[in-house]
Amino acid sequence: MKVSFTELGLVNTREMFAKAVKGGYAIPAFNFNNMEQLQAIIQASAETKSPVILQVSKGARNYANQTLLRYMAQGAVEYAKELGWKKPQIVLHLDHGDSFETCKSCVDFGFSSVMIDGSALPYDENVKLTRKVVNYAHKFDVTVEAELGVLAGVEDEVSAAESHYTRPEEVIDFVKKTKCDSLAISIGTSHGAYKFTPEQCTRDPQTGRLVPPPLAFDVLKAIEKKLPGFPIVLHGSSSVPQEYVDMCNTYGGNLPNAVGIPEEQLRKAAKSAVCKINIDSDSRLAMTGAIRKHLSDNPGHFDPRQYLKPAREEMKKMYVHKIINVLGSNGKAR
Ligand SMILES: [Zn+2]
Repeated sequence: MKVSFTELGLVNTREMFAKAVKGGYAIPAFNFNNMEQLQAIIQASAETKSPVILQVSKGARNYANQTLLRYMAQGAVEYAKELGWKKPQIVLHLDHGDSFETCKSCVDFGFSSVMIDGSALPYDENVKLTRKVVNYAHKFDVTVEAELGVLAGVEDEVSAAESHYTRPEEVIDFVKKTKCDSLAISIGTSHGAYKFTPEQCTRDPQTGRLVPPPLAFDVLKAIEKKLPGFPIVLHGSSSVPQEYVDMCNTYGGNLPNAVGIPEEQLRKAAKSAVCKINIDSDSRLAMTGAIRKHLSDNPGHFDPRQYLKPAREEMKKMYVHKIINVLGSNGKAR
C-alpha cells in the first residue's frame, strides 16, 4: 500500500533548502542505522530547533531493514514532538539510490526525498535515469537529489578510487534536463574516515597531524555562478574529529591516519549555495570511541545499555556541535 510522507509528519526538502540558501546556512544530513543513533539525532535537532535530514543508505537498508527504518523515522517525528519540538522539520531521505526501482519503492513507502546517484554513468545516461526518477517522485511531491562528478572514498557500497570534480559547464544543462531539486557535487570531499592519503596531505609541524588539501572553492563558485540560488549538496563531509580517532586508538582501536574535512572549510561552504552537508563517519567514530572507552574502563559491564548510553551521549554532543558551530541551522525550525 502506498503511503504519503505527509501522513507520517515528514517534510520534503524544497522549502527547507530555499531558506537555507537564502539564509547562508546548511541543513545537516545525518545517516542512521540503529535506534541510539536516531535518538541522538532527534535529541540534538529538537534541542537546537534545527531542521534535519535523516538519511538511509543502501548499507543501512541491508543492515537494519528498510521497513523498520521507515517506521523508526515515523516514530522519530512523534518522539521529536514529545521532546517539546512543536513543528519538527524532519526529512526522510534515501542516500545514494542506485536504480529507478529503489527510488520508486522509497517514494511509495513514505520517504519525502530521494537521491538518484547516476554519477558513475556516462552523462547522457545519468540525465535519463535522473529524469525518470524526478518524473515519478514529483507526482508525489517527493524531492530529488542528483549527482554530477565523482567523489573518492568508500561509503557502504559506494566507492571510487579516484575523484573528478564536477564540471561547471555541465550543470545548467543537467538541471534543466532532469528538473532535479538539488545537486550533489564533487569539489574534493570524500566518503569514509580515510578521506586522503598521507601523501595528499601536509603535516602540522606542531602537532604532527595530517592537514588535508583544501576544497576546490573555485569550482563551487563557478557552479554557483551558473546556477544562482540552486541548492547544492556536499557528500563525504565528516571532519573525522581527531579526539574520536584518538579515543578509538587509545582503547584498542587501530585507525592510523584517519583524516577528514576541516570544519572551517565546511563552515565556509555552509554560507554558500551549499545547503545540505552529509555527515556519517563522525557519528560512527563518536559511537565507537565512546564504546571502546566505556568497555575498557568497565570490563565487567555486559548490558548493552551500559555502553550504548555514553555512546548515544557522545553522538548527541557531536550532532549539536555540528548544527551550532559548523552548519548554522540552529533555530531555523521553531
Ligand atoms: Zn555520499
